[in-house]
Amino acid sequence: MTYWIHIQRSLDRVVLHRERCLEIPSTIGRADFWEGGWYEYPDKESALEAMENAGTSRLVHCSLCKP
Ligand SMILES: [Zn+2]
Repeated sequence: MTYWIHIQRSLDRVVLHRERCLEIPSTIGRADFWEGGWYEYPDKESALEAMENAGTSRLVHCSLCKP
């Protein structure tokens, strides 16, 4: 299963989602590391590692898809 992380630098947090979560936009724009954006990972371990390396204060699990 694919996992997505949504880096929100303006909120100083990163959110973990499972694939097909309704919050994932249908078209992903080019990600800007400094503003944040959506990043896809092939498994949960990779996504969690990326979350920890995102540099934000809070790591959040989406309450909708409950990854
Ligand atoms: Zn979600």
